[in-house]
This record gives sequence, C-alpha cells and structure tokens, in this order.
Amino acid sequence: MIDHHDLVTYRAVCAQNQAGPFDFTAQGDDARGRDAVLSTMQDVPLTVTRILTHGVRVHGRSQIITWTGEAEPRRRSFAEAGERAVRLANALRDELGVRENDRVATLMWNNAEHVEAYFAVPSMGAVLHTLNLRLPAEQLVWIVNHAADRVVVVDASLIPLLAPLLPKLPTVEHVVVSGPGDRTPLEGTGARVHAYEELIDGRPTTYDWPELDERRAAAMCYTSGTTGDPKGVVYSHRSIYLHSMQVNMTESMGLTDQDLSLVVVPQFHVNAWGLPHATFMSGINMLMPDRFLQPGPLAEMIERERPTHAAAVPTIWQGLLAELTARPRDVSSLVQVTIGGAACPPSLMESFDRLGMRVCHAWGMTETSPLGTVARPPAHAVGTDEEFGYRLTQGRFAAGVEARLTGPGGERLPWDGTSAGELEVRGPWIAGAYYNGPDAEPFRPDDKFSADGWLKTGDVGTISPEGFLTLTDRAKDVIKSGGEWISSVELENALMSHPDVAEAAVIAVPDDKWGERPLATVVLREGAAADYAALRAFLEEECGIARWQLPERWTIVEAVPKTSVGKFDKKVLRRWYADGGLDVTRL
Ligand code: AMP
Repeated sequence: MIDHHDLVTYRAVCAQNQAGPFDFTAQGDDARGRDAVLSTMQDVPLTVTRILTHGVRVHGRSQIITWTGEAEPRRRSFAEAGERAVRLANALRDELGVRENDRVATLMWNNAEHVEAYFAVPSMGAVLHTLNLRLPAEQLVWIVNHAADRVVVVDASLIPLLAPLLPKLPTVEHVVVSGPGDRTPLEGTGARVHAYEELIDGRPTTYDWPELDERRAAAMCYTSGTTGDPKGVVYSHRSIYLHSMQVNMTESMGLTDQDLSLVVVPQFHVNAWGLPHATFMSGINMLMPDRFLQPGPLAEMIERERPTHAAAVPTIWQGLLAELTARPRDVSSLVQVTIGGAACPPSLMESFDRLGMRVCHAWGMTETSPLGTVARPPAHAVGTDEEFGYRLTQGRFAAGVEARLTGPGGERLPWDGTSAGELEVRGPWIAGAYYNGPDAEPFRPDDKFSADGWLKTGDVGTISPEGFLTLTDRAKDVIKSGGEWISSVELENALMSHPDVAEAAVIAVPDDKWGERPLATVVLREGAAADYAALRAFLEEECGIARWQLPERWTIVEAVPKTSVGKFDKKVLRRWYADGGLDVTRL
C-alpha cells in the first residue's frame, strides 16, 4: 500500500496546482526558506488536452490513414480528427452523461476513431480504458468490472465478442458502436446502444476543456496477467506528455511530419507504445491497419501507402518476413522498424537489414508507458564490427528513466556488462503502484515494487558501463540447471538463425539430476525435416553455445502459442509439457 505520507504529499501538490496554473508563487514551503530563489517560470499543466490542441493547430494537415481492406483507405487529417474528438466529448457529456473520472473503455482496432477517443476522453477529464480484444472472455469481464467502466466504445466487428459479456458487466450503461455492422446482438443486454457517427453528428465543434491537474488519471491499461489477476496501470496526463516527448526524441523514434508511421502495435498494448500521442506532438502521419493484421495485407499496405516507419512485436515481423520471402513486394519506403515487446532475434534483424528495413530494438513494459530503452549504437561503434552487437542489446536508458540491478540477495550490482541481476527502474512515466478499483487506494505488491518505490521489472540482465541494457531472460523463464543459469532467449535466438527453423521457444522442464533442463520446441519451415542432432550440432558449432547448455529434449510444434499481445506464451508450453501433450525426443 502507498503510505500515508505519500498520499498527503500527493494531495498537497494537487491542491497547490489547483491554485492556478500560472501562479508561480505557489511553490512548496520547502522552496520558500530564507534567501530562497523562487522559480519565475509558468506552471502549465502537461496534459493530453494540450497535445490534442497542438496537433490540430500546428499539424492540422497531417493524416491518419485507416486501412479498409478495400480499394481506398479512409484518410482523415489531424484537424478533422481533432474536431471529431471535440464532438465526441460533447456527445459523451451531453448525451451519455459522462463526467470527470468516469471510465470510458474502448474495444477497438487501430483506427482513426480510436485515436479520436484517445484524445476526447482524457481531455474532458474522464479516463480512457483500452481493452485488449484478444483476452479470454473471463479476463475481460474481470477487468471491466474492476475498472467499473461506464461506457464501452466498440468496433462493430467486435460486437460478437462484447454482446455475450454485457449481462456480466453491471457498470456498463452505454455502448457506442463504431463502424457499420449488425447491432442486434446488443439489444436486450441492459446497455443503451449508440452509433458513433450518429452520436457525434451535429454536436458543437468547440468544448471548453477543463484545466486539469497534470497528475490526474488520463488513461488506464491492464497488464496481460500471466501470473495472477491482471493489474491496472493508470497513466497520468503528465506521464503521457513526458513519455510522448521522449518517443519523439531523435534518440528514440525521432520521426517528423515527413514520416508515415505504420502503427501495428495495438492501441490496447500500452497505448500503441505512445505513438498516437507522439504523432500529434510532431505531426507524424499514421497508417492504421485496423483489423487487417495478417502478413498479406500488411505487405500490401506497405507497398501501396509507403510508410517510412513501423512498430510491432517480433512475431508480427517474422510473419511479414515469411510473406515477403514467398511473395516479394516493394517495401523500400520502410527505413526504420521499431521492434520491442520481446527480444528481437538477431536473424530477424539481419534479414530486415538485407531488405533495407533498419531495425531499432527497444524495451519497455505496460508499467513503463512503455519506453524504457532504445538501442541506437553509440557514435564510436557506428560503421565498425561492434555496431550490430549494440543494436542487438535492449538499448540505452531514456533520459528520465533511472535503472539499477539487484542481485538475488538484494545487493546492488555494478554496471560492468557482466553482473546479471533483476532490473529495477524509476522515473516520471514509470508506474509507482497498481489500481485497486474505484473505492480503494493504489497498491504496491512486494514482488513488483521495492521498499523504496522502484519498479521491479522481473527482467534479468546486465548493464554495460555505457548504460546499455542486455536482457538475458524473464526471471521466471530462466533455466536453472545445476546451480547455473541458462538463458532461454539465447537458445531461441540461436535456433531461429537456422535456415530450417521458423520459430523456436525454449522452456525449463524438471530434471532429476540438474533440477531444470531446457526443452526446445521448434516450428520448422515448410519442407524442412526434423533433424534434432543436426540442430544441436548447429547450436554448438555455429552459435558457440556451451555444451552443458545444449538442450537434450526436443519437440516439434505447429506454431508456438502466443499471448494476447503476440508474444511467445511459455506458460501454455509449460502446461502442454506437464500434461504430457508434447511428443518429446531425448538425444
Ligand atoms: P508487456 O507489459 O506485456 O508489454 O510486457 C513487458 C515485458 O516484455 C518486459 O518485462 C519484458 O520481459 C518483455 N520485453 C519487452 N521488450 C523487450 C525486449 N526488447 N527484449 C526482451 N524482452 C522484452
């Protein structure tokens, strides 16, 4: 739990901000001692509203292009989307009775309407809650009830997912349907149903936005809940604003209004890594794939709309690579690809480099907004043999993100590039607690936060003296064999560099002699035959994996199971193994 002192301080700061955003005399008592020099700067709250109005006024011609699967995508300028966001806010307030702090959920693909909700809801002082449409039904029900959402904005194509859940969602009073589709399954569910376009049609094109405290809640997102119940992270206006500036730094994504960014990472996965907000700050054009996330349509939209940048987890890019190998396309416009959410396999980076698409590897979490590190090689390594190695790390910490490594006994480890420990971080866009429902205070579980308030990431790795993070594993995925650690990620990357291997996931399985040993689950490329001995020899001879780390247990699977955000789901693999569902060969 957050201690009393924190809450008192927090409330004092809020009260102080309420005194007036331009009142520079409202500086804390600690700044007002004898001989104090008071800052003379204006105190303007950093809010999502300001990002919206800036994007509309200064970058009004930039575009959101939404893929439709038809001859023409939908094109909407920031000015148009901004005006529609204003009309949506008016409708939410006047027609649906949405008030400040109400939770407005979205169950949507990446598209222009979703961006409109991104800005309308926080700007009016309500809280945007993005729902992960790939979660199992019971988790969605749990999350909506925990957040006590009053409104759900749903894409018409997702009505079959939402309608059966509504009877179990007592707090949801309104459903707003975006796009054409059959709305009858929503009838009789108790919620009032509105059509998005009809709802915003004819509404006022101005809104007297409230001057919000920058520390107030703007948006929330639940972690995917691989262990225990999902946990709610509530982003503040300030954290979103500062994070967006970081996304825009040259060191991070560094895009401008000359760029078109293909935002594949879902808007429900950590705010699409901050891109919708960052784009409104810098006028970056967005290409939104809507529900067309399969490799074929992605390749087509790249060829036709010519984005310069794209962002997604590695599994999306593995699929695109296979597609481009089978059916080559002109992807020459795409010069920068941000990959994060899971480790980027070196083979994927090499293949993309060969196609002229330069991968930039980044690390983050739902709890970190998500941008934590970005792997831009340092100047001294550019053009040398060391460059690729730097690009494969998770990268250097963003300014504002402080990091430390903690050993198994709680000791601090040095940034020497070899001492491996759990990564802990803190900073202005890092979570300091989880949401505990509308009537309760935020909470800080011991396994997620240190006593002094740092976020324990659950990621294990090293930090070099230059500040480059290299993750070796998730703490729960590392294989503990005879007192030594084997990195599952290193084995996976090595396996996926073999030409016969499409995907590979390695999990720890119990072993009488060593405690745990690696089990390699492999997806073969079309036409390849399983030759475990050859794969094992490849790991040792070509990849330099130490003999004691080589897996002796092997199995072929049709596809590695994926989580709701497209990462390898090792929990499912572990269950299959425990249930005897895998056909394991022992060498
Ligand atoms: P999520 O909150 O679902 O985005 O998951 C966050 C977790 O994804 C992190 O704690 C890491 O374990 C993993 N992750 C994210 N980015 C990377 C990366 N570049 N390399 C390795 N793991 C990553």
